[in-house]
Amino acid sequence: MKRRILVIGGGAAGMMAAIIACRRGAVVTLIERNPRVGKKLLVTGNGRCNYTNTNLDYHCFQGENPQFAAAAFRRFDSRETMAFFEELGVVPKLEEEGKVYPWSDQASSVLDLLLHELEAGGVKVMVNAFVRRVRKQGAKFQVELADGSIVEGDRLILTPGGKAKPSTGSDGNGYDLARSFGHTITPLYPGLVQLKLAGSFFHQIQGVKLVGTVALLDGTVELSRERGDIIFGNYGLSGPPVFQLSSLVGRLLAVGKEPVLRLTIIDRMDRAALTALLNARFQQAAGKSLDFSLVGFINKRLIPVILKVAGFQDLKRPAVTLTPEEIGRIGRILTDWRFPVRGTKSWPSAQVTVGGVATDELNPETMESKLVPGLFLAGEIIDLAGRCGGYNLQWAWSSGYVAGENAAH
Ligand SMILES: Cc1cc2nc3c(=O)[nH]c(=O)nc-3n(C[C@H](O)[C@H](O)[C@H](O)COP(=O)(O)OP(=O)(O)OC[C@H]3O[C@@H](n4cnc5c(N)ncnc54)[C@H](O)[C@@H]3O)c2cc1C
Repeated sequence: MKRRILVIGGGAAGMMAAIIACRRGAVVTLIERNPRVGKKLLVTGNGRCNYTNTNLDYHCFQGENPQFAAAAFRRFDSRETMAFFEELGVVPKLEEEGKVYPWSDQASSVLDLLLHELEAGGVKVMVNAFVRRVRKQGAKFQVELADGSIVEGDRLILTPGGKAKPSTGSDGNGYDLARSFGHTITPLYPGLVQLKLAGSFFHQIQGVKLVGTVALLDGTVELSRERGDIIFGNYGLSGPPVFQLSSLVGRLLAVGKEPVLRLTIIDRMDRAALTALLNARFQQAAGKSLDFSLVGFINKRLIPVILKVAGFQDLKRPAVTLTPEEIGRIGRILTDWRFPVRGTKSWPSAQVTVGGVATDELNPETMESKLVPGLFLAGEIIDLAGRCGGYNLQWAWSSGYVAGENAAH
């Protein structure tokens, strides 16, 4: 008799697991609470779906044991992911830093092709089906839906996602399903999200964009550093490099640390070269006020804020009157502007969940639970969070593939 597999959650991991289990000969039912599967996939990569990254490595992940991901990546890596999607019809387009998008630039096209494959393979897709409870009764798994009906299977694959962007359906309820099987959930924090920083001036510079470097400091220790497009918000900072750092923040704050963000606006010039440039600029600024003398070098909206932070009260004084010490203060803010980190924005703004089902309770080769034989987990519900750049979807595809293959075995 064919093995009957139930998959809870029609996101990236669940769809992959269902397709692979079906290809391996199982009878598969995919259960999704939303009216259709793949809602989160549609918003990925700003609607373009950055579905993998060619520089795949478990070091690009965090969690209690990022190395847990290595076995799944060996089984199904970014090359195989591209080949899988190419077979479905997705032409890969390689962009900067190894990011891969569909040539169509449409996340919806990736979803259409996955839906086609689910249907062609014979996966039964149940939508508007919220899973309220799960249990193992003898050798069978029973899934109780919100309407009270029960669906039964021989194996269960749990892929209900995490807590990030709960409007897509993954609102954290899946952790209770995992807990009901005895699994431990490590502390959960929003990841790939905006940082809230201390400072009373952010509303003045909201919307200012620049290319620069941000680093996260714990005391004098630099934990991580990133470069790219940075955007000021009325709460603090946003943009890809800030997102990358943000995934470290929740855990630091939870253990009583006081992380600091260092912003380097002028990051392509060393301090000596910058000082020389500022000296020359102010000396040649005859007739210009201090604030006007920086126009053309620094974003106009940032100038008054930077000068105030550097300790200047009179921004209209002649630029030529600046002393070397005063010029040094401006240089320091441009290269080493520090902000105490107050926290991150919350779940609706986050792209990923930091934390999840403890990896030491799962077999990395199969994604099977060590606590409940026949139960498999995959995707964001597991304690692994990747960098921005296609890593999180890759984790969903790789872990979903391994779970689907082994559940059907
Ligand atoms: C705005 C945004 C942009 C992103 N962009 C990228 C990107 O470009 N590249 C990248 O790699 N990653 C990106 N990510 C992250 C990536 O989308 C996720 O890590 C990935 O989709 C997780 O897949 P998953 O299958 O584990 O969970 P999900 O995709 O969240 O799927 C879980 C599914 O389970 C369903 N579900 C939950 N509970 C139940 C229940 N009780 N009963 C039935 N169904 C249930 C949910 O409705 C959902 O459909 C982005 C995330 C966001 C929010």
